[in-house]
Order: sequence, then structure tokens, then C-alpha cells
Amino acid sequence: MLAHGKLIKKSNPNAFTVFIGPCIAKKQEAFEYNTNEVINEVLTFDEIATWLEESNIDLKNLKEENFENPTDINGASFPVKGGIFSNLKSVSDIYGYQYMQADGVDACINILEALSNDELEGVCVELNMCEGSCIGGPAMPSNHPNCYVIEKRVRDFAKNKPVSLESPTSITIESSDLRRTFKEKPIFMPEPTEEEIIEILHSMGKFKDSDQLNCNTCGYKTCRDKAKAVYCNMSEITMCLPFVRKKAESIRNTIFEYTPNAILFLDPDMNIIEINPKAEEILEVNFEDVEGQNIETLVGRDILFDIRLDKSAVIHKKLCIDSKDICIIFEMSFIKEENVYMVIMSDITQEEKNIKALNAMKERTLDAAQEVIDKQMRVAQEIASLLGETTAETKIILTRLKKIAMD
Ligand code: SF4
Repeated sequence: MLAHGKLIKKSNPNAFTVFIGPCIAKKQEAFEYNTNEVINEVLTFDEIATWLEESNIDLKNLKEENFENPTDINGASFPVKGGIFSNLKSVSDIYGYQYMQADGVDACINILEALSNDELEGVCVELNMCEGSCIGGPAMPSNHPNCYVIEKRVRDFAKNKPVSLESPTSITIESSDLRRTFKEKPIFMPEPTEEEIIEILHSMGKFKDSDQLNCNTCGYKTCRDKAKAVYCNMSEITMCLPFVRKKAESIRNTIFEYTPNAILFLDPDMNIIEINPKAEEILEVNFEDVEGQNIETLVGRDILFDIRLDKSAVIHKKLCIDSKDICIIFEMSFIKEENVYMVIMSDITQEEKNIKALNAMKERTLDAAQEVIDKQMRVAQEIASLLGETTAETKIILTRLKKIAMD
């Protein structure tokens, strides 16, 4: 990228150079080595895709155009496996190196180990950290086709290009200084002790050997490698998917077990699949006894009528079950994704009893007030001429008291 940028800037010093590709490493490369500002900007394919989408531009509606500067077969093949080497073949031939290619992290590590152990000699190695080379880069648009489909398209595109081209400018690679200095960038990793590794494994819920799934989902080959990375602050325990899933499931289970509400799951025919301990307590049943039974047997038929007609309906009703001497708020909805009904019951038996007791007390108060009114009226009739005004006031006060009690 930098070499290309240098050539462009040399032939056109005012050019604004933008590298576009699926490679995030180019951002780092431009930032780290771009001392002469040969690359002005780096955009990834997914950034371009987002930009086009936000601008409401659909490439399918645009006419296809050729690139301004033609390329030859080697240039067009660059992003696929062996593409880099095809551009260096003449150099490799001169020095008599044998060509080798590795793509993907594991393959690159393997070949580098062989080289560092002096097991391989006289080779020119093309290393691509991304599987499939550049076309397997991480910043492809999310809806990109299969990498083999992309490879075929690139190779089809390249095979129609000329084998070689005259340089479009007087600037040639030979006349340009494309040298670059690489610096060592070693990372010194502290080595954890066995106890420290075990402690980290425990914090990831891995207590037994069988807990170490070595599934590679976190990007590390083994759980121990992952634990070492955690020790070196290069990873976090939450980046272990099985651990996070297990934890989430255990939180869900805890809620199911200890919530103060009854929870029931029913199949589409409303037969009981699962109930939590609170449901057993409120409905005075054991799960084993009601498993597979229709919910009607517990709450009656009427309440379920609405939801039978329309699965999107959500039932929210107060329900008093006399046989069990309980009152509940009954909520029921259908979870389409799981194909189950979920029922939540809140026990309001005590609140209902309190309301009943309060109403009974009100009634007694009313009866007593009425009795006083009746008595007063009788007395008033007898001594109307003497106490008429006072009796009328008493009646007003007692009537007001009665109204307050009724409210
Ligand atoms: S994701 Fe978890 S279980 Fe899988 S290898 Fe990494 S640490 Fe081990």
C-alpha cells in the first residue's frame, strides 16, 4: 500500500490517496509508517458499504465502469492466495527461492516456527494472516458472498487482463525509493504460575477438566491459553461464550426458582410443561402431578377463552379459585419464538381478604349509623317542637358519616 502510494504521489504530488479494502491492518500501517503522508486515508469495504447505504446509493442501479488506470493479471490477482507472490515471481526466480504460501493464523505460525527452527531453507514465503488472503479480510461487508465465490470472481476478473503493461507514467519502481525499515515489536508476556492459571480457570467456571471445552470460540486454542491471555490483560473472562451462557442460564434459573410470582409454561395445547416452586405453592400442587395436564384443570375454562381465539391476545384477569381459597392476577401470553404459552400468577389472596374485611367493617359502621339515625328520628317525632333544630343537625352529621363509610 505504501509503495503504491509513493508511486502515485511521485507522479501526481497533489493526489489525495485513499486505500480501500477489507483489511484493518492497513489503518495501522498508514498510521504507523505514513511519515511522508503517501496515504491520506484508509477506508474499509464495510465502511464504504455503510456510507453508500446511508447515502441511499444502490450499486445495482449504477453503470459499471473500468478503472482509470488499467492493471495486468498480476495486479488484479493480488487479493487472492498466491497473488502477492505472482508479483514477486521474477525476484524469487532470480534468487532461486522456492515459493510457499500460508494463509490463516495457524498456517502462518506453523511455517514461521519451521523457519525459526531452521527446518525450512531457500524458500520465499507468502504469509497471509487472513484465511484466503486479502479477500478473507475482516472488514468485508456483512452480506459478502462465500470466500470461494469471491475468489472465483477475482480470478475470472484477473484472467482477462493483459500479462504485462507498460507503466502509465515515466515513474517506475526502479526509479523510486521503496525501501522501508521494520522495527522489532516484541511483546513480553508475563508467565503465570500453575496456581494463577487454575485461579483464572475457576473464575471462568472451569473447575474440572471436562469444563475446559477448548472450543476456540474466544479465539484461543485452549482454555489454558485463554487463561494466560487473561493473566496478561489481553483478554477478559467474559469473552468465554460457554461461561457467559452458563452464567446467564443460571441467573434465569435463579429468577425462575425464587421469584415471588408463579410461572408456568404451557405447550400450544395448553398442557403444562414446567412450573416453578412458587406456582406449586400457590396452586398447592406438585409439578410431577400436573405435568402434561391442561391448565384448565387448575384455573377453569372461561379465562382461557380469549387466548384460544387469538394467540396474540394477552390475558390479564383477576381470578378467584374458590376450591383453593385463593385469588390471583392471571397473566398469560403466547411466546411465538418458543411456541409456548407463559403464565404468570401473582397471589393477591391476602389483599382480597383485607378488602373483604374492610368492606364488612364499613357495612357494620353503616348499619350502626343508620340505627342511630332511626332512633334519633323517632325521638325527634316525639319531641319535635322542643329539639327539632338539634335533631336536624344530628341527622346531617350522621348522614355525612354514612357517606364517608360508603366511600
Ligand atoms: S471460549 Fe471458553 S471454553 Fe472455549 S476455548 Fe475459550 S475459554 Fe475455553
